Amino acid sequence: MNILIMGPAGSGKGTMSERIRDHFQIPHISTGDMFRENIKKKTGLGLTAQSYINDGKLVPDSLTVAMVKDRINKDDCSVGYLLDGFPRSLPQAMALGKIAVDDKAVQIVLNLTIPFDELVSRITGRRLCRSCGSIYHIASHPSKVEGVCDHCGGELYQRSDDTVESLKVRLNEYEMNTRPVLDYYSKKGLVVDIDASLPIEEVWQQVKKALGE
Ligand code: AMP
Repeated sequence: MNILIMGPAGSGKGTMSERIRDHFQIPHISTGDMFRENIKKKTGLGLTAQSYINDGKLVPDSLTVAMVKDRINKDDCSVGYLLDGFPRSLPQAMALGKIAVDDKAVQIVLNLTIPFDELVSRITGRRLCRSCGSIYHIASHPSKVEGVCDHCGGELYQRSDDTVESLKVRLNEYEMNTRPVLDYYSKKGLVVDIDASLPIEEVWQQVKKALGE
């Protein structure tokens, strides 16, 4: 199944995505992760994307759409995939409809909903593993040893855009650009709302149910 997961920064999108990937054995395609990977490797795409990302702005569609097109045409996506962070604007949603065969690019949209105050606390406490990308929170989901990943021993870091200021910009951007994407898929009857303010296990139960389990 081709799934799109949506939700503002801090809604637990990354955590649910990891679970969906592992449980349903489909590739997790996160445009944010792909950009960060390019930045780490200092590719041309990474260098261009970096300035936008640091300001909490969207990377231009021409670059983003081409990157996703390339990715979903890889063999491992034939079993389905999980899109995360894309499409993030109406033009991107329309572009995706054109890339994929017979409009099956997205078959269900999981829409994670959550109040603003809860987001601030989640975002500022978030930590990621530099090596494997695992996600932690200093209060609600700390690693066993501070600063060290439980899974691979990698170094944990705070994303440079995980600040209250950047969060505000990203939430504004989210409302402005992403609302039309939700409306677009709502009209197609594909959106399922998930209450993401609940504890992880309860959110996961809702997600599995939405995906037919
Ligand atoms: P994320 O990890 O999804 O929060 O993405 C981090 C940053 O990468 C965003 O703030 C944007 O600058 C950029 N980005 C990720 N996905 C997209 C997209 N679909 N279109 C444009 N920019 C994106």
